[in-house]
Amino acid sequence: MLFDTHAHLNAEQFGEDLEEVLNRAKEAGVSNIVVVGFDRPTIEKTMELINQYDNIYGCIGWHPVDAIDMTDNDLRWIEELSQHQKIVALGEMGLDYYWDKSPKDIQQEVFRKQIQLAKKVKLPIVIHNREATEDVVKILKEENASDVGGIMHCFSGSIEIAKECMDMNFYISFGGPVTFKNARKPKEVAKEIPLDKILIETDCPYLTPHPYRGKRNEPAYVKLVAQQIAELKEMTLEEIAEITHNNAKKLFNIM
Ligand SMILES: [Zn+2]
Repeated sequence: MLFDTHAHLNAEQFGEDLEEVLNRAKEAGVSNIVVVGFDRPTIEKTMELINQYDNIYGCIGWHPVDAIDMTDNDLRWIEELSQHQKIVALGEMGLDYYWDKSPKDIQQEVFRKQIQLAKKVKLPIVIHNREATEDVVKILKEENASDVGGIMHCFSGSIEIAKECMDMNFYISFGGPVTFKNARKPKEVAKEIPLDKILIETDCPYLTPHPYRGKRNEPAYVKLVAQQIAELKEMTLEEIAEITHNNAKKLFNIM
């Protein structure tokens, strides 16, 4: 059974055909999905989905690109919602220096506040990092994020950075990019990561794996990511599915 640890089924791209998307996921062997909400509308939609579907869990937080919009009220709201037993992590949070909507200092402050909240409510965190690796690692260290641990979502860094993160109690999650033909580095890194630290995800509707690159992504395609990891590890799809499924259940504390 496959576990898609990062899906945006709350996105408008799934507004028309969510039932069909979920049926295809089931047919592909995807038994659990974590839906990630990262602003007011997507958090609200996440809460609806986790109440509606047994096999959908939620992860809620504030995206770094929109850090400038987050108020103290939003943070309190996230804290309240995190008491729901199907909210299994906080995020995605982190730093994104590619887009310049939110200044770096505000992103960092919002990131730190969310790590502190995660420690308070005792939930793991899901990290978004784009062109900000050095500061992300520094803040995780300074805030003792290892107390809660979590996931480096759609990891694209070096093996050295992966090791630093694993030492802080983080899992390394791979998505569509590891399947891209020219993705030599992510493939090398995936090959090196110990089996007990690997997770798989789609990040759908974005980052669609090969051979569907360019189309809308969906949870069924997490199977393609698992297949790629299996190939790199010289193992079977079933073995990788079981290992990553168990890793996810352990991290999210799902029985
Ligand atoms: Zn995401």
